[in-house]
Amino acid sequence: MHNSFLLYSRLYRGSCSRTYLKIKLKKSKIIKEKIQKLKNKNANHIDSNEFAIEIGKILSEAFTGEIRVDLLPDNRIYYNIAKRIIEPNLKRNYDIVGDYSRNVQEVLNKKSNISLKAIKADLNQDRIDGIVNKISGYNTFEDGKWLLEEPIINFTQAIVDDTIKTNAEFQYKSGLRPKIIRKEAGNCCKWCKDAVGVYEYPDVPKDVYRRHQRCRCTVDYLPGNNKKQDVWTKKWTDIDKSDKIEERNDFSNKHKFKINNKQFGKKSRKHMRDFKLDASLEADRKKFIAIIYDIVENNDRIIRNINWRGQTDPLIAYVKGDDVVLANKNNEFVTILRGGVNNARIKNTGK
Ligand SMILES: [Zn+2]
Repeated sequence: MHNSFLLYSRLYRGSCSRTYLKIKLKKSKIIKEKIQKLKNKNANHIDSNEFAIEIGKILSEAFTGEIRVDLLPDNRIYYNIAKRIIEPNLKRNYDIVGDYSRNVQEVLNKKSNISLKAIKADLNQDRIDGIVNKISGYNTFEDGKWLLEEPIINFTQAIVDDTIKTNAEFQYKSGLRPKIIRKEAGNCCKWCKDAVGVYEYPDVPKDVYRRHQRCRCTVDYLPGNNKKQDVWTKKWTDIDKSDKIEERNDFSNKHKFKINNKQFGKKSRKHMRDFKLDASLEADRKKFIAIIYDIVENNDRIIRNINWRGQTDPLIAYVKGDDVVLANKNNEFVTILRGGVNNARIKNTGK
């Protein structure tokens, strides 16, 4: 005979008690680092995302590693037990990650002089219900255990995506034009490859915020303030900001491709025309940056050791289709060439 109350409390203590999780959270270097970044006011939503993945992983490990299967009646996780174990823990993840990403949003708003408040996303109760219902439908705990792995991480990551969506939509309704940048992580999948891009409200497809299981692609937010400035140099201040955000995103990879604003300003007017873009329009300049990043990040191939006029060190060429972005040895933007694959110097390198 099972005493279900006793069973529940023993399961709970063993698996996901506050103390157990607290110790795990305290031990995590990632969480420590992310909290520090937020305190220093230089966290962004790429940090929120990594924070969420870590929080999700810790809970998932607690669920899968610590639940005493031998104490489960009939080796099953019945609905009531599933609900009492899973729901409060997912709600706690929602609180931790929801608060973290709301606070990040507050930092981002302040940095862009946006006086709007940062909003915490709503709890997605449907997803919690879905997990609880599904897992209790399995004949054995083992069969349904997968639901306590990736879906827990995915649920936790989605809290960040929801925060970004909630705040971007709120800002758009308040007259701003925020942007959403989606980047692929590794070689995710065809669907994610197609979703990559920079989107500006109101032209932001809902799918930008979707992520399938095991997807680690990033969804990030860029503020859009409607300040209009006439002088060319002043117009670049907005781009400066977005570049800084890019750089922050890349803290994990020091040698990741960067755009240096001076070089960019010098090259852009001429080359934007090649891409039928108008250098005097901010939207076109952002599109142009997105094109450059797209060529670099989604390149078909890379050619190294290209000797280039005016450059002492050889350059790296990122080739996508017919277009080429050249970068120096520090992986900084040098120039972009529409149809650059046909350029003799690029074509003949390595032959
Ligand atoms: Zn993905």
